[in-house]
Formats: sequence, structure tokens, C-alpha cells
Amino acid sequence: MSSTCSPRCANPPAASRPGRRRGCGRVGFAPRLGALVAVLAWLALGGCSEPQVDPSQLGVRELTEEELAMNAALEDPDLYAPPEEEPDEEPPFQLNQGAQVSILGYHDFSESRATDMIIPVDKFRAQMQAINDAELPVISMEEFLAWRRGEANIPDYSILITIDDGWLGTHTYALPVLQEFGFPFTCFLYTNYVNIGGRSMKFDQIRELIEAGAEIGSHSISHAAMTRRGNRSEEAYQQWLRDELLGSKEWLEERLGVGIRTFAYPFGSYNNAIAEMGLELGYEALFTVNGSKVSWDTPAGELGRFIIHGNHDGNFELATTFRGRGALVASEMVAGIGDEAQPADQADSPPEPRIRVWPEPDSLIGERMPRIEVDFSEFTDVEPESLRMSVTGLGPVPLQVDDAGRKAWFQMPYKLRNADCRVVLGFERNGQRENVAWRFRVDPYPLYLGDDGVSPMAREREDSGGEADPSPAAAAVSGG
Ligand SMILES: [Zn+2]
Repeated sequence: MSSTCSPRCANPPAASRPGRRRGCGRVGFAPRLGALVAVLAWLALGGCSEPQVDPSQLGVRELTEEELAMNAALEDPDLYAPPEEEPDEEPPFQLNQGAQVSILGYHDFSESRATDMIIPVDKFRAQMQAINDAELPVISMEEFLAWRRGEANIPDYSILITIDDGWLGTHTYALPVLQEFGFPFTCFLYTNYVNIGGRSMKFDQIRELIEAGAEIGSHSISHAAMTRRGNRSEEAYQQWLRDELLGSKEWLEERLGVGIRTFAYPFGSYNNAIAEMGLELGYEALFTVNGSKVSWDTPAGELGRFIIHGNHDGNFELATTFRGRGALVASEMVAGIGDEAQPADQADSPPEPRIRVWPEPDSLIGERMPRIEVDFSEFTDVEPESLRMSVTGLGPVPLQVDDAGRKAWFQMPYKLRNADCRVVLGFERNGQRENVAWRFRVDPYPLYLGDDGVSPMAREREDSGGEADPSPAAAAVSGG
């Protein structure tokens, strides 16, 4: 084998690398052909007796059949090994981990009646029109799940449309509007309300939704709040949860002939154990109703949705507002914990008090599980019990407050996967609710972990040899 290889072919014998055998043989053929061409040309021009070649003869001479055949062979790609693939030809796939998805949750639709859970069809159409006009892309559940699995990208900002329960209005009113705009959607059905007459959808109507491209998800069997154990024994409760999750999945799969891979908690009610059970039983994504956008960080068992009401627009506006538009941000009230007070020459009056925060606004940190901290020492009029915090990908989070009620913090429970982290802080002062917001960035590949990795409060605790964690006496403020 080695004797048929040209020196350029560095392949080991075919026995050890069978996949390269053909390539090796072909690479060897080309130089031999070239040598043959040279020899023939040399012979045609007179061979040894005529060492001097008249250059004018090369261009005008008619080629022999053999020469033509050889020229053709030079051009024949089948005779040559394909060029080595350039490893850097295409940039490697990069997942858009900074993308944000607003998931809308609708219930029932009507001709004109408007309640929390029923939206008039004209209003629904106007909302779809607004999404269309704003050029906000509406993605399908399939696209959303592929992104979550890390297989495909979605736009920076997008909308996912979901409809709960299985009301007839989904088929009568929502379907034609969604088809009019070409928007994909997902329908969460609870099995006790499928095909039972009244205002429930029939199997045929559900199949029509599927034919129109709808994803079907489960919304349990009974639509009872899953966090309520009631008077069941622990064992009976666990079995009941399992049925609600898996029984509904299998029931729908059997009758509709589609895979059921998503679940919406009735009333959005869940806890970690239920979320975990859902993932273990084969759901890829489970949805709640916490009114926060979904990012790459958001755990698969607690994906937020905005419930869209028929009688007021607040949630729709929140859901469709991206890039910090809206009235949330009052960043001049927020400063880094280490920032100096405003220089005196910039202020005619005494400097405005500011909320000191860490990680500092617009900073880049190396810590991927930061403790988000706020210091209200400059505000004496903030009610500590009124403090609330929402974090990108998590929604409302529980806050710890120190005994004096002037400092509060939230420890990230897992590593941030999203480089861009936004925090909204709400509180009450002088009887008014106010929100402030800031953002920081996380460097996923910090070269070194300098001071950035340790918060000032943590350093303070280390310096004083104090406890690393809040005392049990510290109040825990629910973020609900
Ligand atoms: Zn429901």
C-alpha cells in the first residue's frame, strides 16, 4: 500500500484506517498522471534528440487524442480526492442565550363579553394586530423547545401564544384570527373538560386545531390546584399528582395521536417537587402564570406566562414591552454600593438619597451565583415589609431582610446562564409603591476572580468573622 502512495499522502496503511483508503489511492494517481503528461509532451516534441523546444509550437500544435483525454482527466473531479475540509469554514453554532420570550396565556373568547378570563374577539384581533405591527415574531412551541434544548436559535425578543382549558371559543373565535395572522399557538387541555358538550371543544374541533399547526399540551386531569394535598395521605397525594401529570399526558396522546410534551399548572400553582415530578415523567416544559418573561436561565419546570385578561390591558402591555420600554426604570435612584455620593458642585441642593445595590448597575461580574444586595440606609421612609424583587428568568424572588430593615438580599440559587441580568425592586414609601430597576452583566468566562466575585456585604461579614448567612431572626419577605 505504501508504495502506491505519493509522498504527500501521509496516511498509515489501509488496514488501520479503512475509511481513507480511496482518498489515498486517488491522491497518488494525480502526480503520476502529471508525470505521464510531461513525458508524452517531451516525446511529442522530439524526445532526446531535440532538447531545445520551440515555444511557438506549444500554442498552435493540435493535441493528440491521448493528450485530449489526459487534459479531460485533469478536469475530472471523480479522479481526485476531494480537498480537505476547512475546519473554520463556518462559524460554530452559537445559541442565543440572551433571547427573551413573552408567553401569553389566554383562556376563553367571546363575541363581546369581557371578563378576566374571557376576551372579546375584536380585542383579541387588535392584540394580534399590535404584535404584527410591532414586528414582534410569534414563535411556535416547537421552536421554543428546540431553543431550550440548545438546538436552534430564536429571535432576541419573541412571543409564544398559549390558550388554556379547551373552551369552545378557542375553536370558534381564536383559531380564525390566529390563522389570519399565521401565528402558531399551543392549547393546554385538561382531560375532564374534553369532548363533554356544553362549551367544551369536541375531539373533531381539537383535531382541527392540530391540523392548523397547534401544539397540544396537558393542563392536568381535574384542573385542581396541585399544591393542595387536602385530606389525602402523603402516599395518596403523590399518586394523585402522578395521575394528574402522567395520566393526562397518556390520555391525550392516545386520543389525539400527538406527543404531549408540555404542561400548564392549573391556576399556575406548583412547587419544586411537582415541577421535578413533571420533568421526570417526561415533560420538556411546564408553565406557570407568574407574569415574567422567559429567558435561557428560567428553569424548565417553572416557565412564566402572562395571563391576558379580557377586561384590562396591563398584562398584555407588560408582556409585549421589551428593551426596558415602559415606566419601570428609575435608575437615577440606584447606585453601586461602592459609589461616592454625587459631587457637591453638581447639586444645588443636598444629594438625593440613593439605593445602593450590588452587583453594581451596568457592571460586569465574574460570579455566576451572585448574591443580589440592596442597601436602603439612605431611605428612612421605605417600609421594609413592602420590599419585592424580580430577577430575569426567575420572576419574583424571596428576599432576606436584615434586622434593622435597611438591607435586603437574594442569593441566586444556581449559576446564571444568561449574560444579561435585570433586577426590578419594588417598595412602598409615603404610601406609594415605586419600582426601580438596574441591570448587570455576568462574564461566563472570567479570566480571574478578583474582588468582583465577592460582594461588599460578604467581605464585611468575613472581616468581622461573622456568620456567612442571615440569622434565623432575619425576616423573610415573600416575593409573591
Ligand atoms: Zn385552566
